[in-house]
Amino acid sequence: MTHCPADVQRLLADATHVLFDFDGPICSIFAGLPAPTVAAALRDYIGPLGIDLPGHIMSESDPLEILRHAASAGPMVAETVEAGLRGLELQAALRAAPTPHADAAIHQLHTSGRRLAVVSNNSDAAIKVYIDHRDLSGYFAAISARTLFQDPALLKPHVHLIIEAIKRLDAAPSRCVLIGDSVTDIQAAIKAGVPGIGYANTPAKEYSLAEAGAHAVINDMAQLIP
Ligand SMILES: [Mg+2]
Repeated sequence: MTHCPADVQRLLADATHVLFDFDGPICSIFAGLPAPTVAAALRDYIGPLGIDLPGHIMSESDPLEILRHAASAGPMVAETVEAGLRGLELQAALRAAPTPHADAAIHQLHTSGRRLAVVSNNSDAAIKVYIDHRDLSGYFAAISARTLFQDPALLKPHVHLIIEAIKRLDAAPSRCVLIGDSVTDIQAAIKAGVPGIGYANTPAKEYSLAEAGAHAVINDMAQLIP
């Protein structure tokens, strides 16, 4: 692990394709519609279905963890909760807070001739709404994200979404680099043979991303500007 910008630039110099996780590196999707509010709304969807909600799910604030729990009760429950989450993420996307310097990094990496993709556990619809809203759609050659009826087991840390992005970009994994703010991003990148750059907005994240095997860790998206 290194914090040295020169090493980030060396990783980028080898990369023809840059894969961005969405929530964190590009924006804070739940800045205006907080994640705990979304998680509570999803629990309300599950309640009438007669599904048991254990204590740790009652206090869970990550909507994707609620979706994973719903999926353990079967595909019908998963689809119901996914549809609810999809709608809430669409509302959240319009109130999301852009990550500082993310738009500039995306613009500059695209201008430098690299092909870019989003690889995210958030719904593809919410990502499209956000990047359209920010006038960023022209910069991304692919969006590999949660789709309708997708098995939550195929979300990161599973390698599936990264492999899909690489295929759609027609890229070699070793010539890609993934920017992610979660341990699960780095774990998925390693499984795909893609170097991972951690984006850490807290010292705790810096440590955990490095421990997970990030090739470098940045704390400002401006550090990606070539
Ligand atoms: Mg993230």
